[in-house]
Amino acid sequence: GATIGILGGGQLGRMLSVAASRLGFKTHIFEPGANPPAGQVADRVTTAGYDDIAALEAFADSVDVITYEFENIPTTALDALEAHKPIRPGREALRVSQDRLTEKDFLSGLGLKVAPYANVESPDDMASAVAQIGAPSILKTRRFGYDGKGQARLKSGADADAALVDMQGAPAVLEGFVTFTHEVSVIAARGIGGDVACFDPGQNVHKDGILDTTTVPANLTASQRMDAVLLAANILNALDYVGVMGVELFVTQQGLIVNEIAPRVHNSGHWTQQGCTIDQFEQHIRAVAGWPLGDGSRYADVVMENLIGDDMDRVPEITREGNASLHLYGKADTKPGRKMGHVNRITPRQN
Ligand code: ATP
Ligand code: MG
Ligand code: MG
Repeated sequence: GATIGILGGGQLGRMLSVAASRLGFKTHIFEPGANPPAGQVADRVTTAGYDDIAALEAFADSVDVITYEFENIPTTALDALEAHKPIRPGREALRVSQDRLTEKDFLSGLGLKVAPYANVESPDDMASAVAQIGAPSILKTRRFGYDGKGQARLKSGADADAALVDMQGAPAVLEGFVTFTHEVSVIAARGIGGDVACFDPGQNVHKDGILDTTTVPANLTASQRMDAVLLAANILNALDYVGVMGVELFVTQQGLIVNEIAPRVHNSGHWTQQGCTIDQFEQHIRAVAGWPLGDGSRYADVVMENLIGDDMDRVPEITREGNASLHLYGKADTKPGRKMGHVNRITPRQN
């Protein structure tokens, strides 16, 4: 059978690996860190850094197609891999999403709404960004930010200097603070032939900058739901995308505003494991393997809750709950803010 290479051995790589095995594929994980969660379920693991070109080439030679669970793969590593095997989703999706400025330029170029933003690479930039965007606003590092890390909030212009110091000289964008009623996301997939399928949008609640719960169905009107799905399809088509993408949206009085995109399976799509016949992980594997996309129709109402840090203490109670599907990532040590697992609580679909 064919082998799927996965860059990154975290929980997303682990769940991708499980889905791939279930379809008869072998999986090979490439991960710099020791004892990755995905290593417990994959057929093979290469432990090496992204600067180890020989290891990358050997990895690529051992697989049929390469995918990834995170977007911050160095360009030099991608060049080495791509010379040997196809990378799906493709390079354009990575180029666009590795940098918040590039991503916002791309999204607004498609005619989609994003928060007002300005590039900040120097104190002078910061002064003009604050003059242009005002406050409240958020300064975000352009690269490598996740779970709300690398962000500084400005209540007023007086916070500008401190926010800039927080970036430690890294390029950033200043974003106007969006007054949203709630947050939703669309988990969208595009097949190798260009067909697009979207899961039902989920409603997301964050706690301390980290996703806490995703609920389906989301609180959206029929037209908002249609808009969310169509704009996600627009993004995937524009990138000639192959695979699953997470599209995070703010719901506002002025319509849907795109917060950010993630060119991979997404935490807010974990509900699909119990809500759909084909979940986001299988959908992604199908797409990158060149199979037809599966039917992602939703047949249950689901609340996905992330288990972060000490939430692990509640696992014994959760194991006694009815209609609660527990997913644990096999991480050895519990740390504050660390995603340890999640639980999908399901009830029959009401609407
Ligand atoms: P992720 O783990 O989702 O990749 P991240 O570190 O990339 O997180 P964002 O998604 O940019 O961070 O922001 C995290 C959360 O902060 C958002 O889900 C939202 O709740 C809030 N937030 C971000 N940007 C804005 C904004 N411009 N206006 C209002 N709230 C915002
Ligand atoms: Mg992000
Ligand atoms: Mg986000």
